[in-house]
Amino acid sequence: PATPRVALVTGTTSGIGEAVVKHFCQQGHQVLAVDFNAAGEAKADAAGAAFFQADLTEADACRAAVAEAVKRFGHLDILVNNAGIQHVANIEEFPEDKWRQILDLMLTAPFLLTQAAWPHMRKAGWGRIVNIASVHAQVASPGKAAYISAKHGMIGLTKTAALEGGAHGITVNAICPAYVKTPLVDNQIADQARMHGMKEQDVIEQIMLKNAAIKRLIDPSEVASLAGYLASDAAGAVTGSSWNIDLGWTAQ
Ligand code: NAD
Repeated sequence: PATPRVALVTGTTSGIGEAVVKHFCQQGHQVLAVDFNAAGEAKADAAGAAFFQADLTEADACRAAVAEAVKRFGHLDILVNNAGIQHVANIEEFPEDKWRQILDLMLTAPFLLTQAAWPHMRKAGWGRIVNIASVHAQVASPGKAAYISAKHGMIGLTKTAALEGGAHGITVNAICPAYVKTPLVDNQIADQARMHGMKEQDVIEQIMLKNAAIKRLIDPSEVASLAGYLASDAAGAVTGSSWNIDLGWTAQ
């Protein structure tokens, strides 16, 4: 069994974040689930986690989320930066406000949460930061300039934090999944179908799984298991790395 820890997970009302909260609670961790959607409260409650409502595009909300975890549980050991959104449009039409919102949520918030969590982990001489990046942190696809730029940036943050954390027992790693069966992907399937004038099933098979050796979508629980490993004592020698769960996408 895992040593019980205090974890803060962002973006927990659905998809990968919800699965991570469940997995961590099953492992006996004390978890603060953070999301701007109030529906996350019931989800967190069902899993046995506490909930804090915060819009992570706001800097003060990021700092308040960490403060809440420390106030409630006395310290903070694990941070999972997961909250994310997608917007699909070609660069020519990409709205500036969407670009800024995506960068704020998916790059600046992970930075601010890392910064706020850092002194608590450094004091304890133990910390785990798991950044949910994407296969789109490694390769690009058209129509996703903001998302891909934020995810590539997240790898830079991961590597830098890993170097700074090494002396303090803090490890920082990224997980890079291909398409996971979540509401975020369901919305993208609909968007892509509209953009290309295709049927949704054809979008899945011909676009989303085009580069995949294994022709299926990933289950959120598969990402949660890897997050569990990276957050464990067993992964103490693993830092600054990017872990692909990409159905073989980047093998070619
Ligand atoms: P999802 O849409 O199911 O969940 C995202 C969560 O983030 C939701 O609970 C939402 O309420 C929350 N959120 C959105 N904006 C927020 C804000 N401003 N403040 C606080 N919370 C906010 O998405 P998912 O598919 O589970 O994605 C989770 C992460 O995994 C994202 O970073 C995404 O980029 C990444 N990812 C997903 C896939 C995939 O195929 N689903 C693949 C690779 C990476």
